[in-house]
Amino acid sequence: MRHWLTAFLLVPLLARADDLATRAGKLHSAAIVVDTHLDAPDQLARTWADVSSRGATDHFDIPRARQGGLTAPFFSIYVAASYADQGAARRALELIDLTHRVVDEHPRDLVLAASPADVRAAKQAGKIAVLMGIEGGHAIEDSLGVLRQMYRAGVRYMTLTHTNTNHWADSSGPFYEPDFDPKKSVVHGGLSEFGKTVVKEMNRLGMIVDISHVSDATIRDVLAVSRAPVMASHSSCRAISNMPRNLTDDQLRQIAQKGGVVMINVGSGFLDQKVYDQFVAGLAKMKPEYLRIKAAYAQDPARMREEMTALMKRQGKPPRTDWTKVVEHIEHVIRVAGEDAVGIGDDFDGIPDPPVGFEDVSMYPRLTEELLRRGHSEAQVKKVLGENFLAFFARVEAARDKLAGEPPATAVYTEK
Ligand SMILES: [Zn+2]
Repeated sequence: MRHWLTAFLLVPLLARADDLATRAGKLHSAAIVVDTHLDAPDQLARTWADVSSRGATDHFDIPRARQGGLTAPFFSIYVAASYADQGAARRALELIDLTHRVVDEHPRDLVLAASPADVRAAKQAGKIAVLMGIEGGHAIEDSLGVLRQMYRAGVRYMTLTHTNTNHWADSSGPFYEPDFDPKKSVVHGGLSEFGKTVVKEMNRLGMIVDISHVSDATIRDVLAVSRAPVMASHSSCRAISNMPRNLTDDQLRQIAQKGGVVMINVGSGFLDQKVYDQFVAGLAKMKPEYLRIKAAYAQDPARMREEMTALMKRQGKPPRTDWTKVVEHIEHVIRVAGEDAVGIGDDFDGIPDPPVGFEDVSMYPRLTEELLRRGHSEAQVKKVLGENFLAFFARVEAARDKLAGEPPATAVYTEK
């Protein structure tokens, strides 16, 4: 009798869970899923792998992307700070070439894309649309001609800085270094005059201006000067995890008011204050040894790198938060900046600490199910997954079209 009763009581519950899973599955496979920051090219440049085989990079390959229903990843053309004034444009071109080679190797699964229309066409054709964004404005080597050539090569966004302040824009700095001091990254107090010209020329071209990594003053200047809406390609919310790479509620609101989007980074420190605090405590602990190595091998960069890598290794694996934190950040942006302003830019292959339960590109369907479970409408979920980004990208194109009569900027960098 009791068993019968239990079964009777459980049936409606199970049916409801089943319903939700079916509804989420259907919605997810019909939806456009965009991810604006994936560091696969950097990993593939170190160790070439066939992306059709599982485990090609830490967090990406075609089988896992298919499982995750991923429609459109932005491959990051990440130019490390060490390339500044030392072959930065060459590095960018090599990673653009690498991206082309990856796509060319898998024509049945991948197609290069450069517009919202391309992304929708890829979805129709059952393919994954690969787009490109440059990370680190030093990649254009202070040349508007190089910027334009990057656009012609297919690049559709540029993160104005990486962790290094360049010749025309301040960065929020290298927060992961034990002697990190944000004041050291302040050179221009935001964008320099040339920096403002770079942003305006990006608007004219239709290249998305990305304010992840830049300083608060640079964000302020970009919002004032940009003639198109702007994006944070892989940043989360400071109200939840107070770290320099995340955005304040005011910034979230201002980006949204301008028609921009904030794409949530899933690094555990970006998501969870406790994890970030632990990380900062770890840095303080390693600081004396870090400074000793820095001083001892100032004349021997190879040895310094070796010693630093060993020091990092001794710190052990970074702590990881739970995947539902991703949903918390998404909901925070919706609350503060509205439902049109948020998406996913997880930073896979660029972070060592994705949350437990959201380890790679196969996991996006969890977000869909959890957002539905929390009562978001199907239309809202589709916005988060990709429609917000595509609508934003279309607004950037519309701003470009309005500037069609403007000649290319001819400013030459002379601030050095
Ligand atoms: Zn980054």
